[in-house]
Amino acid sequence: MIINADFHIHGKYSIATSKNMMPITMASQARFKGLDLVGTGDALHGKWLQLLEESTEEKADGIFSLKEGFVDPDSGSFDEGGETNCSFILTTEVEDMKRVHHVIIFPSFESVGKLRGKLRGNMDSDGRPRIRMLGDEIMQLAHEEGCIVGPSHAFTPWTSIYKEYDSVYDCYHEKPDFLELGLSADTDMADRIQELQDIPFLTNSDAHSPWPHRLGREFNRMELKELSFDGLKHAILNGNILANYGFDPRLGKYHKTACSKCYRKYEIQEAIDLNWRCPCGGKIKKGVDYRIYELSGWNKPHHPEHRPPYIHILPLAEIVSLTYNKGVTTIFVQKIWKELVQKFGNEINVLIHAPLDDIEKVDPKVKNVINAFRKGKILIEAGGGGKYGEIMLEQNTLDNYF
Ligand SMILES: [Zn+2]
Ligand SMILES: [Zn+2]
Repeated sequence: MIINADFHIHGKYSIATSKNMMPITMASQARFKGLDLVGTGDALHGKWLQLLEESTEEKADGIFSLKEGFVDPDSGSFDEGGETNCSFILTTEVEDMKRVHHVIIFPSFESVGKLRGKLRGNMDSDGRPRIRMLGDEIMQLAHEEGCIVGPSHAFTPWTSIYKEYDSVYDCYHEKPDFLELGLSADTDMADRIQELQDIPFLTNSDAHSPWPHRLGREFNRMELKELSFDGLKHAILNGNILANYGFDPRLGKYHKTACSKCYRKYEIQEAIDLNWRCPCGGKIKKGVDYRIYELSGWNKPHHPEHRPPYIHILPLAEIVSLTYNKGVTTIFVQKIWKELVQKFGNEINVLIHAPLDDIEKVDPKVKNVINAFRKGKILIEAGGGGKYGEIMLEQNTLDNYF
């Protein structure tokens, strides 16, 4: 079977996360995005764990779905039933002693409970707990519980493995099960680094809200023997990822070297000359593009045979927002987004597969922008320093493609 999966999100008990980030909302939004499987995130956090246990039931080994009739205790939200068929798998992100982030995917609630008992740190202070251990210890303990583990957003400048180490082996002393590319990198960039040739890449959203421009903004298309933890583990470890869907890396928050306060972008030499201090007082953070350049042995990507294609996508809600120059979370934008998604089944169908003539019947202007997107004619101002890249239209796009 073929599924779309997003393994890395944060729940409502995480810092700076939407109160709407709860299993019920995630499941219904995931369906619109075309996701079949979503990581629960934050599985080590006591309250989140309790909510997960109360609101889901196991439908296959390590795979959970919403319990019918469950009402969220904080918000009173409930599953409206019907088509919500998204499944969950237990996942978390943790921060180690060197402030390196790791994603852990669990086989069962039991393994979550056991790892909670073994890791040193306060599991309940934040959805992403700080562990007073190094990456290799965390990986070893997680492996003992049958989990799979790899670095999160591997190249970003604040909390990634490559901000701390020049090799993933310096951190883990063994091969990680996967590496999460993060929004600011893609396969063409990462496959310039020799040591990554035999490591599978995951593309996950790291969403802090369930809305359609966040959840599933990056995801993995995978072929599984069966939808279970073992089926998934096998697919990740054995190269049965069919495609990575994700941002053009220029849209990521850390693609270019830039100031983390005023977001001014810098050439690397300029940043060095300024000793990584912006005149505004902010810190200049090294861009993912430059970090990968430093680590790379090749100036062109060398894709190993198992590496799937990386397909650049944009959140459809951002396309609608751009078309009408209205905020992505406005009712106006959400209404058009929902109409398109309901008509064509999910967001990926609208973006990539639906005939333009049919999209035109829903909204001729959005059709023109989707056409521009499919032709690679959306302009991008690269992000950096913590600010997302921006999309823009070439002049006359709205009229030109009729
Ligand atoms: Zn992280
Ligand atoms: Zn600045």
